[in-house]
Amino acid sequence: MQEYQVETKCVQSGYTPGNGEPRFAPIVQSTTFKYDDGEQVGKLFNLESDGYFYSRLANPTVDVVEKKINDLEGGVGAICCSSGMAAIMLAIMNIVHSGEHIIATNAIYGGSFNLLNVTLRKLGIDTTFVPTDISEEELRKVVQDNTRLIYSETLTNPGLEVIDIEMFARVAHDNHIPLCVDNTFATPVHCRPIEYGADLVVHSTSKYMDGHAVAMGGCVVDSGNFDWTSGKFPEFTEPDESYHGVIYTKQFGRQAYITKARVQVMRDTGMIMSPNTAFLLNLGLDTLALRMERHSSNALKVARYLQNNSKVEKVFFPELEGDKYYNMAQKYMPKGSCGVVSFIVKGGRESAMKFMAELKLAMICVHVADARTCILHPASSTHRQMSDEQLMAAGIEGGQIRLSVGIENVEDIIADLEQGFAAI
Ligand SMILES: *Cc1c(COP(=O)(O)O)cnc(C)c1O
Repeated sequence: MQEYQVETKCVQSGYTPGNGEPRFAPIVQSTTFKYDDGEQVGKLFNLESDGYFYSRLANPTVDVVEKKINDLEGGVGAICCSSGMAAIMLAIMNIVHSGEHIIATNAIYGGSFNLLNVTLRKLGIDTTFVPTDISEEELRKVVQDNTRLIYSETLTNPGLEVIDIEMFARVAHDNHIPLCVDNTFATPVHCRPIEYGADLVVHSTSKYMDGHAVAMGGCVVDSGNFDWTSGKFPEFTEPDESYHGVIYTKQFGRQAYITKARVQVMRDTGMIMSPNTAFLLNLGLDTLALRMERHSSNALKVARYLQNNSKVEKVFFPELEGDKYYNMAQKYMPKGSCGVVSFIVKGGRESAMKFMAELKLAMICVHVADARTCILHPASSTHRQMSDEQLMAAGIEGGQIRLSVGIENVEDIIADLEQGFAAI
């Protein structure tokens, strides 16, 4: 049978009911599972047979969602976590250790930046930050002997910058290190990073994948393409003493990374997704392709409207002709990008506040990427502690507004923005 298209996978992947079984994957709200004899349990612990035994390691409802996301991204296995940050932490902890080094782009999500810049440094893991548009030559220069990972986002939150995935993958692979990308904003509907050479893909499923702003979650997907046997990752090729001497590459082949992530790191850290969350996420994923199509087309119309508005100084959206990342977006996400548009109103902070106070439909929320249009003024919220000078240094202007365009009728969204502009 031919492989299904992304729209079909969103609704069909992950679960096929047997005769007389529920059509939609039910919530298996149980921490543990019963077996008839101890031998069987022993085999499960030895990883010799498949089956559920404790929901910190695997649960049937979570399993359905993992299979669906894995299918959407085109990997060999996935693991769902309690949040996007947990997924990023798991992805890194599985391969990078104290005394080792990461290269990351600097315009990534603030939480990820802090994890790398503060928390992981305290654990002895050093990160060098580079610009999203770094040249291949410059990127090669920052690779060190102890570098174990290159990390970036396909479409950065909130700057909407697009990395050259193929170039980053080339530099990573020439140095026998993997490339991990956060694909939260583009989603596999608009970009499948593994097809361009990414080895690992992480997600905050709390955004478009859930899509309704109801369930925190994250996911790590393993492409199965990376060769862990170069000598830089001995934990895959030497016996794991914490797991009765298993050698991951030998026993699990292309699934070495994702198996180790589950049986070792997830076992020891417990950052698992709950069955209830998985149920809600699965429901959200059913409509992901439909919603992304609408988010993206609405956002492009809103971006064009803003671009032609005399009260707007600048618009950031990679599908706009003339945007710095237009060509990169056309290459890696030709069908569309996402619903987030960032823009600067003339008149700085004061105008931005007046503008936002008039909006009715676009509500003020510290969230992005769900069905309902929402808006945020970074300078007075997420970056509130900073002075105007510090904001400038961080690339955030007083008049800057981040708009997460929802799936409502775009004429209603634009009419709402009209009210805001009338006040300034
Ligand atoms: C929100 C977000 C995260 C963090 O995810 P949580 O689910 O909030 O923990 C990571 N990366 C990106 C790009 C995000 O937008």
